[in-house]
Amino acid sequence: MPSEKASFAPPVLLGIPFDANSSYLRGAAQAPPLIREAFRCDSSNSWSETGVDLGSAEAFLDAGDLDLAERDAFPAIESAVAALLAKGQRPVCLGGDHSVTYPVVRAFAKYFDDLTIVHFDAHPDLYDEFDGNRHSHACPFARIMEERCASRLIQLGIRTMNAHQRQQADRFGVEVLGMRDLPALTKLRFSGPVYISFDVDVLDPAFAPGISHREPGGMSVREAVTHIHAITGEIVGADIVEYNPKQDVSQLTAMVCAKILKEVLGKMIAG
Ligand code: MN
Ligand code: MN
Repeated sequence: MPSEKASFAPPVLLGIPFDANSSYLRGAAQAPPLIREAFRCDSSNSWSETGVDLGSAEAFLDAGDLDLAERDAFPAIESAVAALLAKGQRPVCLGGDHSVTYPVVRAFAKYFDDLTIVHFDAHPDLYDEFDGNRHSHACPFARIMEERCASRLIQLGIRTMNAHQRQQADRFGVEVLGMRDLPALTKLRFSGPVYISFDVDVLDPAFAPGISHREPGGMSVREAVTHIHAITGEIVGADIVEYNPKQDVSQLTAMVCAKILKEVLGKMIAG
């Protein structure tokens, strides 16, 4: 492991088994233990493509899964993430539906005042409200930008932009890079703290069928990994959300989540 380049703060996994803000299908709450299982599966080794061994005990920490009562889930998520940041750790959250990114990033905003978010998704998730729910998984980035929890939001892989969300993107100054704009490797160079929010449905459903909203025309796993590798700046945290095991086929998507997790952790550790 290239420890001379390692950042000071170890990454720490945190499972967030919560899907009450899903607008279409439930199931994402079951994801965290299945992503961990795929991550440790003997069918692959523990090295990232960038040359980091994630199998050693000291490579990263694991804070386990949150025990959440749905009604007060958001304050519980925010304080759990804040507690890890207070210990000098860098949380990598396993969702859960995408609504969890709002309380997670709120916690980050108290530690980083110039946070850049790189958001992989088929959807902009910028609705002011969806089906009457302002905390829907279709809304997290509207809440994040309203509260100025991030100074920049770069969205990658979008292919469902509509008039309302276009207006929201303009209002918040969101930098939207749709599938038609890829590759966008040179647009991912940052100098400050970076948070990666990875909605698995950014991938084409042919590669990752285990999701609630199958939106054809998405990234290959290779394209996603290449864009993750291209990010510069210090990655201070991440999430992988919207894996829905109820929709999966032969654990294909669990293994894809494990692959994305491996490459994100590799980037966080080796820079
Ligand atoms: Mn999303
Ligand atoms: Mn999505």
